[in-house]
Amino acid sequence: MGSNRLSRRDFLRAGGAAAGAAALVPIAGGARAALAAPAASGKTEHVIFVAFAGGVRSRETVGSPNNIPNIMKKIADRGVVCPQMVTANVGHYGATLSMFTGNTEYMGIRENERGDHPTIFEYLRKQKEVPSRKVWLSAGGGTQQINFSYSLHKNYGANYGANIISSDGVFNAEFKDILDQFGRPAMPGEEESSALARLRDGMDADLKKHLTASAAANDAETTRRIEKFILDEISGNTTKITGPGAGDAKTVRVAANIMRVFKPTLLGISLIAADCAHGSFNNYVEVIRRNDEEIGALWDAVQNDPDLKDKTAIFIIPEFGRDKDLNQRNGLDHGDGSDDLRKVALVAAAPEFKKNAVMKQDFQTIDVCPTMCQLLGVKPETAPKSKVMKELWA
Ligand SMILES: [Zn+2]
Repeated sequence: MGSNRLSRRDFLRAGGAAAGAAALVPIAGGARAALAAPAASGKTEHVIFVAFAGGVRSRETVGSPNNIPNIMKKIADRGVVCPQMVTANVGHYGATLSMFTGNTEYMGIRENERGDHPTIFEYLRKQKEVPSRKVWLSAGGGTQQINFSYSLHKNYGANYGANIISSDGVFNAEFKDILDQFGRPAMPGEEESSALARLRDGMDADLKKHLTASAAANDAETTRRIEKFILDEISGNTTKITGPGAGDAKTVRVAANIMRVFKPTLLGISLIAADCAHGSFNNYVEVIRRNDEEIGALWDAVQNDPDLKDKTAIFIIPEFGRDKDLNQRNGLDHGDGSDDLRKVALVAAAPEFKKNAVMKQDFQTIDVCPTMCQLLGVKPETAPKSKVMKELWA
């Protein structure tokens, strides 16, 4: 994981980062041409944004399709690949936040502050009056990533933030209230029925209303699943996963549960485990493969859900890449200014997008924010340097 020291160093290094030759990252199986796509079949109602962060080179993703068979076959082949996404090496935190705001965020020095620019969550919730239960962030990286949920912007902020959940629990205030009133189950063996009864008693009014509405609209089985889900998240039972990349795997799996139960309008997923590459190239590749499996399972679940299929868009992109050459530990750092570092690949699919297309032109990683905003019908009004990737539309 990036230490503060490293982030600052990255930040300083990035101070003059601008140049770099235009060596292209080859896409293996490059026969896939930018086809004229068939007419779009539907309209996006749900967006999943996977910040595949931690520093991931295109060489190990779209350049090595065997590492990411799910993303390539299930998503890229039915969507678009943009291998020329230019990014700024402003540290893991700043570069990842940049994708949520559409602005390059120089956060290297104040690593644990929230940003000044509204996030896509805030744009959506404020401009379209989307309720909080429809906007979620599954964050795997501890305290920094919690800051992706909302900004310090005076016209936006906490009232328009995303619900946050991580493998460590639920962080947002609304759910913290539930925790405070309900308490965590006293011990793992506590009977589910009594824990559920206490959960119902302690639940805050808004969520209770939601569940009551669900009870009216859904069958008893669905309502039971929602309650069980909340209980599992609170008691930490959802996922017991170990090994390299376990944190990311949990984060994606929790996100898949959120998708299934709440069917959010916008779901952010913030990963970080690939940064183990500093110390081990092999573990880094294992993280990529594991994340691909989990993202594949998430996408399968979307395709198997009639409420989500043909109405859900997905964007998968790292915040930056990594160095061209291995370090002395047979790992990969990030700071050499190479194209392996400063250009990453976006894989995306949406009902409105081209199918099986590779886009050759340069975009910026900050362009994913306005592009997702366009699909959701909102305007990123304080992101003047980013632009909608219009070329992706069929
Ligand atoms: Zn790092």
